[in-house]
Amino acid sequence: MSAQVRYLWTDGMVGERVGLEISEEGDRTKPASDTVWSRVETLPLERLKEIQLQRLKFLLSFTYERSQFYRELWDSKKVRHPDIKSIADLPKLPVVTKYDFEKDQAARPPFGTAPTIRPNEHLKYWQTSGTTARPRIWMDTRQDWENGILLYTRSLYGHGVKPGWRGYFAFGFPPFIGFWLCFAATEAMGCQVVPKGTLPTAAWLQLMKNIAGTAPSFLCSTPTFAIRQMEAAKELGIDPTTLGMNILSLAAEPGACVPATNRLLSQGWNAKIHDILGATETSGPILFTCQDQAAATPVSDHIAIDYFIVELLDPDTLEPVPSGSPGTTCVTALGRYGMPAVRFLVGDHIHIEERPNCPCGRTLPLAVGGVAGRADDALFVKGIKLYPSLVETSVRSLPGLGVEYRLQKKNEQVAVLVEAEPSVPETEYPQLARKLQEDIRLKATVTLPVEVHPAGTFPRLETKTPRIIKA
Ligand SMILES: [Zn+2]
Repeated sequence: MSAQVRYLWTDGMVGERVGLEISEEGDRTKPASDTVWSRVETLPLERLKEIQLQRLKFLLSFTYERSQFYRELWDSKKVRHPDIKSIADLPKLPVVTKYDFEKDQAARPPFGTAPTIRPNEHLKYWQTSGTTARPRIWMDTRQDWENGILLYTRSLYGHGVKPGWRGYFAFGFPPFIGFWLCFAATEAMGCQVVPKGTLPTAAWLQLMKNIAGTAPSFLCSTPTFAIRQMEAAKELGIDPTTLGMNILSLAAEPGACVPATNRLLSQGWNAKIHDILGATETSGPILFTCQDQAAATPVSDHIAIDYFIVELLDPDTLEPVPSGSPGTTCVTALGRYGMPAVRFLVGDHIHIEERPNCPCGRTLPLAVGGVAGRADDALFVKGIKLYPSLVETSVRSLPGLGVEYRLQKKNEQVAVLVEAEPSVPETEYPQLARKLQEDIRLKATVTLPVEVHPAGTFPRLETKTPRIIKA
């Protein structure tokens, strides 16, 4: 490849650089302006779509040649990748789900037939919880990793993080991709990184307190754990607003775009709240909140369409929805080659607007209102689709209730389990339950039984919290 693009990983250890070089990308190691890291983010939409198509054609031919999984799948469906001549042709290829990869890895353990290079040539190994006993494995080449770092760098810069800031990473470093990529991007853009690792939460907060105010700072966390850190700080007599956090970058679950959660966190930390969302199978982030959108109502996310094709499908038929309609996301990752994701059903429920005129200057389209819900979490109650984020908005808006909740599934019934604030006496629980039931009924048009439990009933996790539990 030519040397037009200057890469973050320039140590000669990258090995084969797979992918199409886009000249407008230029020097990845420095921001293009005060507002965007990469000039690509502000290119005319037509040019962004040309880049998409060029990268797609390259990816399809590479994937067919190198990945047995896709070759066999496409051959079995009698679709030829050279027939994909435009983005509109993409639905000719079959949708793949995490279950397809789970089955493939179970049948040909441990890696399955999707990888395009030998396992020891992959730089990074990830696993994520599977529906069977086996975790799902996913891997990145060095160039995939480089691309992921670029996308996180662009997104963090879009949040307002600048070189020289300090990034706090509130996670225990399990083999989940998102936080690690964000950590690497933070280092690459010239920020200081502060990892929590296995520190107990109290020691972590003490660490923050000790160095608070000595550098502009951001916190990378799940929304749930960001709330837990607030609670824990108060238990220790530390006011979280004195910890000097300017920005919260929330990953794994929607947070900024859930109004009650956003309000709770922005007031609690006295910080600007941003989402940064990807998926293990596609890498990411696919979606991120810029500074202008973080301040808007509703909060919307930019979509990195130069590195992802995001199609919106009807979740029942998996057919494309009419242009301009909301749907569930099916993503083709254009910068990931070690284990390609071609038409992978991510399952975020979003609504795309292509000409947003965002004041930030980015031409990247917007997911208006952010992510309404993630398909994995959708429940059907009396024929109505219910996302936990909707219940979350009710729970976190009602005075007297805590912030944690679970949806308990028992046969066809779903009950809402919540915690009361520590100061609320148990005699008031039934009244609180009635209020919450009514609020959910108004928002979701479904009546659900509600149980109020004492504060501290549910565990607080650093990673994505399972909201749906079985009775
Ligand atoms: Zn913007």
